[in-house]
Amino acid sequence: MQELIDRIQKDGRVYPGNILKVDSFLNHQIDPILLDHIGEEFFRIFQHEGITKILTIESSGIAIACFAAKYFDVPLLFAKKTKSINLSDDNYIASVDSYTKKTTYQVFVSKDYLRKTDRVLILDDFLANGCAALGLIDICEQAFAQIAGVGICIEKEFQHGGEKIRGKGIRLESLAVIQDMKDGQITFKNQL
Ligand code: 5GP
Repeated sequence: MQELIDRIQKDGRVYPGNILKVDSFLNHQIDPILLDHIGEEFFRIFQHEGITKILTIESSGIAIACFAAKYFDVPLLFAKKTKSINLSDDNYIASVDSYTKKTTYQVFVSKDYLRKTDRVLILDDFLANGCAALGLIDICEQAFAQIAGVGICIEKEFQHGGEKIRGKGIRLESLAVIQDMKDGQITFKNQL
């Protein structure tokens, strides 16, 4: 998605540890026009997949997935990282290794909101090692829900999460694919 690539090139910052900061427009301060276009693009890609629910993980995925959910006209469900009083006692639980925080945490999704009749589109802001997406896939599998695909805003291809997801036979579509971030220089896959 050229608009997203252009914005990463303009406002993205590369930090040590292969971290790309896009918090001026994607996951801290949010540009609603860009996110609306991202939601529309995910709809264009997955509109014929019979999606009944969008699943993401708090907190960065929520805004992105919410814009997309409006285009699909389906509910957005997000996995919670804490077991707050808002959550029922009957949950699907998966363990996720955090790429940015270097810890392992559990994510919870209430059994009330994910069913075997659901056809799920998993969305997130980044794909690095694939742990967050694999945790959400695990939750769908526990619910016997069908996984229609995984949609990612920014895939860091050199961290190989994509191979793990495609290796499971799951459709993965990323709007911007980064091949390399050496010396603070971002190289996109489709960039000559
Ligand atoms: P994974 O689980 O695929 O290793 O990493 C994906 C998760 O880690 C995403 O939910 C995202 O929040 C975070 N993440 C991974 N890489 C980056 C990065 O370069 N920049 C930012 N801002 N977040 C990242």
